[in-house]
Amino acid sequence: MKAVNLFDFDLDGLAAFCLGLGEKRFRAQQLFRWIHQRGVRDFAQMSDLAKDFRAKLAGVAVVEPLQRISEHVSADGTIKWLFDVGQGNAVEAVFIPEDDRGTLCVSSQAGCAVGCRFCSTGHQGFSRNLSTGEIVAQLWYAEHSLRMRRAAGEKLVLPKNDGTARIISNVVMMGMGEPLQNYDALVPALRTFLSDHAYGLSRRRVTVSTSGVVPMMDRLREDCPVALAVSLHAPLDPLRDHLVPLNKKYPIAELMQACARYVQSAPRDFITFEYCMLDGVNDKLEHAQALLSLMRASGVPGKFNLIPFNPFPESGLKRSAPQAVSAFAKLLQDGAIVTTVRKTRGDDIDAACGQLAGEVQDRTQAVVRMHKRRAGDVLALGDEVNA
Ligand code: SF4
Repeated sequence: MKAVNLFDFDLDGLAAFCLGLGEKRFRAQQLFRWIHQRGVRDFAQMSDLAKDFRAKLAGVAVVEPLQRISEHVSADGTIKWLFDVGQGNAVEAVFIPEDDRGTLCVSSQAGCAVGCRFCSTGHQGFSRNLSTGEIVAQLWYAEHSLRMRRAAGEKLVLPKNDGTARIISNVVMMGMGEPLQNYDALVPALRTFLSDHAYGLSRRRVTVSTSGVVPMMDRLREDCPVALAVSLHAPLDPLRDHLVPLNKKYPIAELMQACARYVQSAPRDFITFEYCMLDGVNDKLEHAQALLSLMRASGVPGKFNLIPFNPFPESGLKRSAPQAVSAFAKLLQDGAIVTTVRKTRGDDIDAACGQLAGEVQDRTQAVVRMHKRRAGDVLALGDEVNA
């Protein structure tokens, strides 16, 4: 029988699993803390668990991390990891350090079925959903490998200590994939991020970014309301149909109604709207004016984040001129909408949003070939963390 990967469980799931082994819930809490708070995978090292429980676990369970294929560190401190998820697929997680926070951008799928025109992941097509364990393992790896490197005195750009041992304070589900199209795996992962027995992140600091899967926005609001970012990118349906094909199924009016419902339960009293600035496509003042009208008509409290496009050849699109971005932002701000322009981070390592998956499959194939040649070179993450 295949051993169960304990990364796949949130605390309730782990408690049910432990109950099946004849163990009480508090044992699950202890086990959860060993894995997620202390980064330990080896049951033998979990010293406050009864020996017979550890022996039972060793027979039926593992704590199996993702295999890291590569790491790229940007001059600005951004770190991008590429993880092997099998069968030629790879996903990326990106760590973005700032003075007051450490953010991890996490992937939810290998590839993506939504196919946004400006997104290199969308151009790859969809391979498969990640499991809960594969989503959680990205945070586990990032948090514990960074802690270990900090303890070893390695020079890294890290946020200022917030009084806890933790390095990552914010998670954004903005990596590869549409998280709300992998809902069943996503929600237990979010619960693990939030659990005080695991990473203890605030709901306000965990953000799900969606292209607008309306029914799942409603479910998330009920099941696990975290901060929400909506990839809008256009103020009117014909343009959004073109840029975000999911719009044909859930047009802007339905999306804004779902946002209005979501904000009732959201941990923040606004929705963040992402808007990728595309030269000559959606960046004119008439588009900003239409956005203002949309926001006023919908009544949704929103903030805008204007994202500089990261060009890739297949897109046929260009980044907006800085003057166009400033004028667009000013018009929204003059209309009393808080608007920021996203700083590009990690440009030198292709880690900026929209490039997350750029050439991943190509690179993965290259890595798979390399892997076959040099099998020993691919790091087993857990070995590294627990060394
Ligand atoms: S922007 Fe997000 S939803 Fe759209 S194709 Fe890319 S990963 Fe998928």
